[in-house]
This record gives sequence, structure tokens and C-alpha cells, in this order.
Amino acid sequence: MRGLMQDWPMLVHRLIDHAALYHQGADIVSRTVEGSIHRTGYAQIRRRAMGLARALAKRGVRPGDRVATLAWNTHRHLESWYAIAGMGAVYHTLNPRLFPDQIAWIANHGGARILLYDNCFAPIVEAIAPKLKHVEIFVAMSDEIAPLKLKKKPLTYEALIAGQGRAKRDFAWPELDENSACGLCYTSGTTGDPKGVLYSQRSNILTALLAGQSPGLNMSPMDRVLPVVPMFHANGWAIPFIAAMAGASLVLPGPRLDGASIYELLEQERVTLTTAVPTVWLNLLQYLDDNNLKLSHLRRVCIGGAAAPAAMIERFEGQYGVEVIHAWGMTEMSPIGTMSIIKPPLDKLPRARQLEIKSKQGYPHFGIEMKITDDKGRERPRDGKAVGRLKVRGPNIARAYFRGAGRHAFDSQGWFDTGDVASLDADGFMQIADRSKDVIKSGGEWISTIQIENLAVGHAAVAEAAVIGIAHPKWDERPLLVVVLRPGSVLDADAMLTHLRDRIAKWWLPDAVVFVDEIPHTATGKILKTELRRRFADFRFPR
Ligand code: ADP
Repeated sequence: MRGLMQDWPMLVHRLIDHAALYHQGADIVSRTVEGSIHRTGYAQIRRRAMGLARALAKRGVRPGDRVATLAWNTHRHLESWYAIAGMGAVYHTLNPRLFPDQIAWIANHGGARILLYDNCFAPIVEAIAPKLKHVEIFVAMSDEIAPLKLKKKPLTYEALIAGQGRAKRDFAWPELDENSACGLCYTSGTTGDPKGVLYSQRSNILTALLAGQSPGLNMSPMDRVLPVVPMFHANGWAIPFIAAMAGASLVLPGPRLDGASIYELLEQERVTLTTAVPTVWLNLLQYLDDNNLKLSHLRRVCIGGAAAPAAMIERFEGQYGVEVIHAWGMTEMSPIGTMSIIKPPLDKLPRARQLEIKSKQGYPHFGIEMKITDDKGRERPRDGKAVGRLKVRGPNIARAYFRGAGRHAFDSQGWFDTGDVASLDADGFMQIADRSKDVIKSGGEWISTIQIENLAVGHAAVAEAAVIGIAHPKWDERPLLVVVLRPGSVLDADAMLTHLRDRIAKWWLPDAVVFVDEIPHTATGKILKTELRRRFADFRFPR
């Protein structure tokens, strides 16, 4: 017998319809690419998204077609996601921090015919245009076009929308199958070629419901949310959807993500919740320190994309009274997977112990199954000690990559191998030890580079640290610690090792420490270990 409840396809346009009707009081504030502050609301976002959808439809965009965006977080980028997804097409985000060749490769693989870009990316557009195989129409997301040499003159976004005669008539969002494709985002290729993750209408709504309303984010109309994490990275952590569902205000930072600019928005726009990778927070904390500032409105900071060191969590919570939500996820998971939120009975533990638990990546919200296995696929115990390959399954997790790449990551039971090596404890907390390609294999045992890095940055003189494995005749590999010092600080290798010695197993202690001026990062702010390993390819430990 079937239930007698309504069939209401889970479609992304319903989010903006809902927010426009019921959350008109919420602000959408943007720092534009030109630098000014722009203010609008969900109803206007929806109306303009409909105008854009009409204009795109007129230019031949049909359900399933990809429309590429090369843009910072602003109201226009938000409108374009709702326009594209709403009309049944697929927003394909391009990451401007990649090399032009990589951007062109990803754009060609996605196959979009139209590219919307911020004027500040005109040089990138110019560089990639000759290599683009499918793009026929370029749209500058502004009311004017920055000078650039293209065979065909770009259109302007504002003219496109205005061309629709500011029609009072609504665009009729098509009734689609909720499993229709809706967004395309490529992993940044920290481990190999970029691979396309193709989100569906349904997976985006489920993400907003499950991750957005989970104990971690728990977003509400009282929140003013600053997503520093760009929409071009990992589905923008789904914040554009979560905020609309919750009726939260959005503060979109545009191109300026430095400590001073973020601080200005946090204070002036009374931001309550903000999300970014640790490197962004390193910069903000440094700026707060240097200028002796406090955070007056911020309640919660979500740190993810790379491990949040305990020292960073402690500074936010202890020094600034801001709760840290340490989150783990990946592009393939829409992207939020786990959040580290203290729950009973752990809330009775001493503060230092709670901090250790928070440094773990946390437990999943409903809708994510998780297990760790050995290399043969046998499940390993959830005892907080055993480490294994982390595998996940659920309605918001990719079941394949776009155009069939990376098939080996998915097994016949629907488990996706995250490429991370982790432990799971009895309270459900997952802890990432490493990416499987970064973990150091010493004498048949695994050493977690992330844990050593986190402890190293706990030293007051250390700004950033990275650990890589160096070939060793006896042990296969041994750890080398690469350190960037804070400006004006002094530290030598012995003092660094002394700091670590009491905190880790003896055989985890790095065999050498080198000091460098900077550590290379990926386009998404992670330590680029492949490059670091290349730089230290000839390094030999002193005998
Ligand atoms: P890529 O780096 O390949 O572009 P993603 O941006 O999707 O891919 O990043 C996903 C990966 O980032 C995870 O598999 C994990 O290795 C790492 N990661 C994300 N959040 C955390 C975290 N809180 N702690 C440690 N690692 C994390």
C-alpha cells in the first residue's frame, strides 16, 4: 500500500520562492567586485533570477545545459545559481585560482555554451577564450564590460536582465524530476586530475535540510552569515541554499578575503556565523592580534576544508568567545560530512579534553553512513585507535563522477572511498589522520602528518607547518617537518622537537625540521603536499 501524501519534487527554485515570500526582512549584502557595498533581499534576488532565466532561455539554454560561472560571492552570483538551477540547467562553477589551462580544461569538460564572469576576471577570460571549445556567449556580471580582447563582444548581465522589460510576469520555473542535474563542481585536483561532481536538485535540497539544520550550523532567521568560502569551491558549502531555506541574512564578501576586509564586514554587518578554510582564519587572527581588536557580534565560526588546529580553536573560543564548528567534507559530499560539536556526556569533561575532541572532525548529520576499512575492504573497529580508509554513503554523496572519471572510488554497495585515512571512536567522532596519499608509512605503521602539523602550530613561534614523508633506507619513510615562523619569532629545530616530544609517540617525532619562508598552497587554500614533496625530493636526513 502506498502512502497518501503529496508528491512534491525537491527543486532548488522552491528555496528562493520560499525565502522571497517569507523572509523578506533578511538582508543580502555584497561587497561588489568594484568595491562598493550592495544591499538587496530574497524577493529581489528571485525577481532578477527569473529575468536572467528568461534571458538565458531566449539564448537557447535548455534543461540539462551547463552554464559556467567564474565569479566571487556576490548577489549576482547568487542570482545566477537560482536562475540556472531554477530553469533546470546546471551551474558549473570555475575556480579562478587555478591556472588558466586548468580552468579551460574544466570548462571544456563541463561543456557550457555560456560563461558568466566577474569583470575582475577579464584577463583570465581573455587567456582561456582561444582554448574554450563550447563557449559561444560571454556575459560580464556587471552593467559594463572591462576592456578585453575577444572575438565576440561580451554581453552585460544587467542589460540581459533589463532586456526582459522588468516584467512583472513571473518566469514559470519548470516542473522537473527532482533527480535532474543542477550543479557541477570539480574537485581541485589535490590528488590527481580534477573530477566533476554533478549535484541534483534533490541532493541540494537534502543538503540544506540535513546539514543546514543539523546541530552544527543550525541556521535561523536570526543569523547573519558570511560565507568566506567561495561559491566556486565545493558547492559553496551549500550556504546559498541553507541560508535561503533558513531565512538567514547573507553577507557576501566579493573578492576581498584578507583579514582587514573580513573583519570590517564581520563588525559592520553584525555577522553571527561565518565559514572558511583555516588559512583565512590564520589571517584574521593575525589581524586581530596586530590591531588589538575584538569580535563584537560573531557567535560561531565554521572551520573546514583542512584540519583546524587545537590552537586555532582555543584562540577563537578562549580569547574571543566565538564557538568553533570544526567541519569536514568534500566536493563529492555536497560538501558537508561531519561537524565537531560537543554533546553530552562529553560536555562534563575538562576543557582541555573537550578541545582535543573538537579537534577531531566530528560526527555526521543524519543521512551520512560512515565506516573505515583496511586495504582489503574489511571493516575496522570504531575504537578511536584503529585507522583505515574512510568510506561514506548517502543521498548527498556522489555515486559517480561526471563523464565516468575515477570509477575505482565507488564500490558495488554504494560506498564512496573518500581518499582520507581516519579513525572513528565510540562517541561517533571521526578523526582524519591523513589523505591516503600523504600518510607516512614508517616500519609498516602509519604516521598522521596532520596531527604533527597541528601540534607544531600550537607553538607560539610557528605560523604554519607541514609534514611530508622522506624515503628512508630502514623505515621506508620518515617524517620531515617544514615550518614557517611568525614574523619576528625565533626558534631552532631542537626547540621545535622539544615542543613535540611530550605530545606524540616517540617514533612519530620528525627526523628533521627545516625552516622556510612559505609553504605552497592549492587553489583552495590547502597545503600543496605534492609540490612540497617535489621541493624536498633530494632531501636526505643527516646521519
Ligand atoms: P580537493 O582538495 O581535492 O579539491 P575538496 O575541496 O573536496 O577536494 O576537499 C576534500 C578534502 O579536504 C577531504 O577529503 C579532506 O582530505 C580535506 N578536509 C576537508 N575538511 C577537513 C578537516 N576539517 N580536517 C582535515 N581535512 C579536511
